[in-house]
Amino acid sequence: MRHLHGAARTRHGGQAASPYPRRVQDRQIGYLALGLGKAIVLLAALVSLLSGCHPPSPTPRPVPRPDPAAFQGSNALAEVAAFLEVGPRDAGTPGAERAAHYLAGRLATLGVSAEVDTFSDVTPGGTGVFRNVIARLPGTSTGLVVLAAHYDTKSGIPGFQGANDSGSGVGLLLALAAWYRAAPPLGPTVWLAFLDGEECRVEYGPHDGLHGSRRLAQRLVEQGLGAQVRGVIVADMIGDRDLGVTLPRNGTPELMTAVFQAASREGCRSRFALHAGEVLDDHEPFLEAGLPAVDLIDFEFGSAPGLNDYWHTSADTLDKLSADSLGTVGRVLIRLLDDLDGQTTSGSTASFKTAN
Ligand SMILES: [Zn+2]
Repeated sequence: MRHLHGAARTRHGGQAASPYPRRVQDRQIGYLALGLGKAIVLLAALVSLLSGCHPPSPTPRPVPRPDPAAFQGSNALAEVAAFLEVGPRDAGTPGAERAAHYLAGRLATLGVSAEVDTFSDVTPGGTGVFRNVIARLPGTSTGLVVLAAHYDTKSGIPGFQGANDSGSGVGLLLALAAWYRAAPPLGPTVWLAFLDGEECRVEYGPHDGLHGSRRLAQRLVEQGLGAQVRGVIVADMIGDRDLGVTLPRNGTPELMTAVFQAASREGCRSRFALHAGEVLDDHEPFLEAGLPAVDLIDFEFGSAPGLNDYWHTSADTLDKLSADSLGTVGRVLIRLLDDLDGQTTSGSTASFKTAN
């Protein structure tokens, strides 16, 4: 990723007086008839009650959703640690291919089927091969929510492990795969998208960086699924011990509001803020494709507040992450998905379009 420019009804009452004068006998007969009538009505009610003619009113019983508080950030951290064992995973290298197969295998172990979408794309070094790993968790209603994180590492950095960038997002999505396997989505279908080729080799452009997200955005549109997408939520660098997630301004406003609301409900609103400007990250191709999207990124990853000196360096290691941070973001995403059930979000806002 890189920074872009900062930037009443009325009631009818009363009984009508009878227009006919009555004699006493008539009244007595009338009272008798009234009493018989009441008895018949009561009897009929009793019979119908006993025969079960009146079932209880059809109010659907809500299926209880698991409390996001049950999400364990330690599971996500363990997934990050295991994933880092794969080693460097620069796009287009054997390491990236190993990583893709690791992800598909890990998802299978968790009981979640996944597709490895292998594709080629033009890069500054010629045509390159990329692999997106997409897990699908069927929901109970129409609509689709995509949770996405890139898994490739930035090339050209000696000793780079990429624990936060990009291991954190991968670990979180794997832990969420286990979560939704145990408690399938009650709303829209959830896709977990592990994206390749986010990092650019030279400089971000139409043929450098964001390869996996461009591919997935294009496929969603081509397959006619665009209208179903309630939101694409990208998580990038969200494992820092000193968690400060920001939402870049190039995002779908309704989704951004929903993220903040979910954070409030999870009691961690102070960990989420609006980013000062726009950020070029994997959410951007989805916005450009007209799909609602938002980026969750903590771009202060360093040795002191305000610094980002661990970013794209060999200091991006597992010890800089915490289960607590991964748990916080995980709970907010689970809450967000619950909130998105039944909601509709409009498409992206063209006004946020960026210039590369
Ligand atoms: Zn990066």
